[in-house]
Amino acid sequence: MPKFLLATHNLDKVKEIEAIFKDALGEDIEFVSGIDPGEVIEDGDTIEENSMIKANAWLDINPDCIVLSDDTGLFIDALDGAPGKDASIYAGQNATYQENCIKLLNEMKGKENRKARFSTCATAVRVNSLSIVSVGSIEGHISHELDGADGFGYDPVFIPGPDIAGASFAQMTPAQKNMVSHRAKAFRSLARGVKEAGW
Ligand code: IMP
Repeated sequence: MPKFLLATHNLDKVKEIEAIFKDALGEDIEFVSGIDPGEVIEDGDTIEENSMIKANAWLDINPDCIVLSDDTGLFIDALDGAPGKDASIYAGQNATYQENCIKLLNEMKGKENRKARFSTCATAVRVNSLSIVSVGSIEGHISHELDGADGFGYDPVFIPGPDIAGASFAQMTPAQKNMVSHRAKAFRSLARGVKEAGW
């Protein structure tokens, strides 16, 4: 089987995606680090475009690999869909996870409608093949304060599911998060596509 390469510098994502993909395709699949193209300018208008931009940037210099990429957005009803695809820079260009969460809690102060959705676009590309694309989403709510120490990004403020009194992603174990998360749904479906394509 060819080698898989994840088009990301984010070690939190690497852990999640490798676990999901190995679970779906079998433990013996091999992930490699490959050659790093450095920072890729994500100037697409959607998570689908940005995921494809990242995948192709890594494939260009790693043509012997199957490249997997993802792009995630956090879409909040009460903020007209913000932070959306720009979730990583919500509090500024080099914002930390904590700064993004704090800005979000401030923007959500006094809002009754706290409905939110995470969506991930997962993409697989390989030379001389049509690309495979899959989107996974999870509906949930934004909490009133930071809760939990696990996970990354907006996990301490995102409560998946219909119950706003439920646990945040950061209060779940990685396995619990991977059962339901936007990224898990997208990559499980992507893994099926890769298998069906015979890659
Ligand atoms: P990216 O563009 O896919 O890297 O993600 C955009 C932003 O969403 C980043 O700030 C991430 O930290 C955040 N993010 C992505 N996936 C998750 C997740 O599973 N939980 C919480 N935050 C996430």
